[in-house]
Amino acid sequence: MAQREENIVLFPFMAQGHIIPFLALALHIEQSKNYTVTLVNTPLNIKKLRSSLPPNSTINLLEIPFSSSDYGLPPNTENTDALPYYQVIQLVEASVSLKPSFKKLIENLTEQLGNPPLCILADIFFGWTASVAKELNVFHAIFSGAGGFGLACYHSLWMNLPHRYVDSDLFYLPDFAEASSIHVSQLAVTIKEADGTDPWSIFHQKKNLPEWVKSDGILFNTVEEFDHVGLLYFRRKLGRPVWPIGPVLLSTKRQARAGKEDGISSELCLEWLNTKPLNSVLYVSFGSMNTISASQMMQLAMGLEASGKNFIWVVRPPIGFDLNSEFKANEWLPEGFEERIKGSKRGLLVHNWAPQVDILSHKSVSTFLSHCGWNSVLEALSQGVLIIGWPMAAEQFFNVKLLEEELGVCVELARGKSCEIRHEDIVEKIELVMNETKKGYEMRRRACEVMEMIKNAMKDEEGFKGSSVKAMDDFFSAALSMRKKTKKEQNIVA
Ligand code: UDP
Repeated sequence: MAQREENIVLFPFMAQGHIIPFLALALHIEQSKNYTVTLVNTPLNIKKLRSSLPPNSTINLLEIPFSSSDYGLPPNTENTDALPYYQVIQLVEASVSLKPSFKKLIENLTEQLGNPPLCILADIFFGWTASVAKELNVFHAIFSGAGGFGLACYHSLWMNLPHRYVDSDLFYLPDFAEASSIHVSQLAVTIKEADGTDPWSIFHQKKNLPEWVKSDGILFNTVEEFDHVGLLYFRRKLGRPVWPIGPVLLSTKRQARAGKEDGISSELCLEWLNTKPLNSVLYVSFGSMNTISASQMMQLAMGLEASGKNFIWVVRPPIGFDLNSEFKANEWLPEGFEERIKGSKRGLLVHNWAPQVDILSHKSVSTFLSHCGWNSVLEALSQGVLIIGWPMAAEQFFNVKLLEEELGVCVELARGKSCEIRHEDIVEKIELVMNETKKGYEMRRRACEVMEMIKNAMKDEEGFKGSSVKAMDDFFSAALSMRKKTKKEQNIVA
């Protein structure tokens, strides 16, 4: 490839679920375009990112100074994975104070390179970066690692808090009728309890979401063909271009998991999966931040055992325990569970973190019991894997709504972190999806269709560009045309 030109600055919020799609996007741009990519983050996240990059990568990593203890957080806390859920808002609030350092960083970069970056791509939590970009005359876009439909519901909920104005448990979103009715059980605790004066409401309503209109557009890690309705919401709402460029995923081969250590090696996992028949395995994981309660864990173990299916389950200490503490199988799982599943070779318990993309790409895996974070969703859909949904937070409830009601590739098992769940219901849902039922058959058919849509969207062949490839080209054209316009104006002034 010729000398790389221009600089694209990427700035994710400090959480694995945010950093992962940004890293995937950085690698994707590096591979498909002739641009230099600079990933910005706080020092500890940069350290983890450094170890995730392939050795010959041209991606620049740039530190932005941050001291967590200045914000009442424990020392050296720079990622939500080191925080209990109720403290995540503190890190979110602290991140707003990065504004002056971010501006300085872009100014320094401009001085160093003799040119401002071609564009800044910032996180959905970093609406404030748009005004920095405006001040410095740099093209700016939000990059959403969340899907269009889910983020549209999330945006509308935070801006309007509609559940506050109705007596019933069912309500509608005032500016997003296409979402049809929402039930209060589909609200994350933070939204349910929000009244406009709480820290999350203040962050979203005052500091973050209104800033998005200052941006030049939004890139989504999604596909136009199956997420059109949500994308339309933002086109209407912001009056800005929306570019669905996904899915960009971290490649299996690179093993770049944004610095997380697997609780099991990929080789061992694949070795285990190789011994299992085609489409016979259920994979169970609740993403990078979540875990379930002790009683839910017990029911899930009983359900998995009673289902008779092969499974891989990523386990973490239950809610209320330190996530990094030792996993006490004899307290949190049924007596003898681990020995039995090991003995029968039916199940694999992985502690803390599994090589998820490898697992989902394996032909033995047919179904994913997931909290439906958007990265997990995309990783499953790209492989035609069916989903049993158990949304827990943020926009995950609406991802399930899209997957179940529109795409037909998911059934919802449970909602929220405090729901009661019975092992009988777990078995019923697993059988419905994984057995040769009419529903299971129909879901597999739809999952194949969605997988095809994804393949087509990412196709870049002579004479044919998929919708996501086109959207990426359009995005860079828009950034380049602003660059030309600015240069012209500068020449006129000069
Ligand atoms: N992940 C993983 N191993 C795990 C748990 C999660 O590799 O044991 C990865 C997963 O592949 C996905 C990301 O972490 O890319 C989780 O992002 P998602 O949007 O699904 O959920 P979040 O963590 O943001 O709730």
